[in-house]
Amino acid sequence: MPDLAPIIAVIGGGQLARMMAEPAAALGIPLRLLAEAEGVSAAQVIPDHIVGDYRDLEMLRKVTDGARVVTFDHEHVPTEYLHALEESGLAVRPGPDALVHAQDKAVMRSRLAALDVPCPRNAVVATPEEVEAFGFPCVLKTTRGGYDGKGVWFVDSAEQCAEAFAAAEASGVRLLAEERVEFRRELSALVARSPSGQAAAYPIVASTQLDGICHEVIAPAPDLDPGLATRAQQIALTIAKELDVTGVLAVELFETVDGRVLVNELAMRPHNTGHWTQDGAVTSQFENHLRAVLDLPLGSPAPRSRWTVMVNILGGPSETVGRLFDGYPHAMARDPRLRVHLYGKELRPGRKVGHVNTYGDDLEDCLERARHAAAWFRGDLGNESE
Ligand code: ADP
Repeated sequence: MPDLAPIIAVIGGGQLARMMAEPAAALGIPLRLLAEAEGVSAAQVIPDHIVGDYRDLEMLRKVTDGARVVTFDHEHVPTEYLHALEESGLAVRPGPDALVHAQDKAVMRSRLAALDVPCPRNAVVATPEEVEAFGFPCVLKTTRGGYDGKGVWFVDSAEQCAEAFAAAEASGVRLLAEERVEFRRELSALVARSPSGQAAAYPIVASTQLDGICHEVIAPAPDLDPGLATRAQQIALTIAKELDVTGVLAVELFETVDGRVLVNELAMRPHNTGHWTQDGAVTSQFENHLRAVLDLPLGSPAPRSRWTVMVNILGGPSETVGRLFDGYPHAMARDPRLRVHLYGKELRPGRKVGHVNTYGDDLEDCLERARHAAAWFRGDLGNESE
């Protein structure tokens, strides 16, 4: 390949890496991928990929050889390997000392407390008695390894804690207890930050989760108090700066019934609550992530339209769903303004296989079009065309 621009190495072959490929192609920036297996989502669109284990330092060295910077599709690369890569002169973005706050919820909670960032009351707990002393009702979370609601238990009594402790012990991690927050809704604050310190904050969005999985995002969050929106953006910018995050940072927040925002968790990579930016913002989160990790000037995070709605396409419970491609004729004919993003994944129950974006001046119309299309692709509408 001609040596036209610096190579970005990306660890992990999921849909986030796949969606980095589109702006990388537009900007003429070559990506090199470490994929879990041949044919995974990102490997389908990034020709320069090798298959290997991200828990193998030699493999990490191989995929980053000749690259200017390494970034990630997920947060699971062991911290000590990232330090080793840094020591050999490679730019690791986000760096290991930042990334640990997205890997370990106990580390994240104590750091945010030191920064005076508002969080739910929390404590690391070692026994059901300690949970009892903390107080019910509460939420138990494994400090590491949880995602999409896995590793999260809502408990009301000491007896109900058994499953969480068994799971934590089996995976060798600790448990964090958190007060169960009465929230009005969940919000997300997305920012991109470059190594030289430039930062761009996207509008605050509202996200709807079902069983711990993100289903729907509305940008911007409807009827959000402007002061609270600014506060949420400031929180995300403070975290990005103080933790020295490079690339995209997503801060998941609770908007409480009494009008405060509390931080739920952090992700240091493009995030599901930012997929709306692909069609609804001047610069997508994927492009700003690439710009940030290369320390290029960031693009505008401004919205392109009054409203943007993103709805995930999740595999349904039935085997009756055809190939996703079979959904195109109806979806495209019904709504020529619909934006469809599929990840090249097979449908499996509960698996995120794609999303749709709609935008316009009328929120109800955007919601109806996006929900219809996602349900259609999921197969929830049967074969009837509306
Ligand atoms: P994951 O790492 O799986 O994304 P989260 O910490 O985001 O886990 O929790 C998953 C979901 O559980 C959240 O989106 C929220 O709906 C709910 N939840 C998490 N923590 C609390 C809490 N302290 N109070 C109330 N609900 C919570």
